[in-house]
Amino acid sequence: MLNIVLFGPPGAGKGTQSEKLIEKYKIEHISTGDLFRKHLGEGTELGKLAQKYMNEGNLVPDEVVIGMVDDKINSTADLTGFIFDGFPRTVAQARALDELLTKKGTRISGMVALEVPEDELKKRIRERGKTSGRADDQDEEKINNRIKVYNDETLPVANYYQEQGKLAKIDGVGAIDEIFQKICTVIDNY
Ligand code: AMP
Repeated sequence: MLNIVLFGPPGAGKGTQSEKLIEKYKIEHISTGDLFRKHLGEGTELGKLAQKYMNEGNLVPDEVVIGMVDDKINSTADLTGFIFDGFPRTVAQARALDELLTKKGTRISGMVALEVPEDELKKRIRERGKTSGRADDQDEEKINNRIKVYNDETLPVANYYQEQGKLAKIDGVGAIDEIFQKICTVIDNY
């Protein structure tokens, strides 16, 4: 199985690259942000719980996220692999993911980290906010908080994979297809 963690700050291009990767490698896309937005749209209890965290740009508690990913992995019939997008966002989530995959007899193949300077991230998020309809893309304070939360709580996850020799950093500025090719080169070496 091919199990990739696509990592990077908000606005790094994880969603865009994930769409291309699932098409090429025929693996399942698990975006925790998308799953939460789906719950929110459907008005489920989980959606209501997540909403107050998402609205402020804060992280939803680990146990809630991990439970949702566990359900998603278990409800996937054809296990060819996963691309994890926006997850894990804490070291506790990374450890839990390892346990979930071990139970399935598999493991993380590697993490691909997209690197984009902060000014460029903010520009991209503001641009996306014009059409995404996402409240957290449209408010400067929320955008700043999401980047701060990423730096404080999520960046250590890269070290977790680096210690296992599984981290590849990619320059996330440039043409979408060029970045995609660089990611594919990393994946094809797993
Ligand atoms: P995203 O679409 O990945 O930018 O996620 C949007 C929001 O959903 C985040 O700002 C968090 O509030 C929440 N969220 C998504 N994934 C996670 C996660 N792995 N852990 C905690 N909160 C998350």
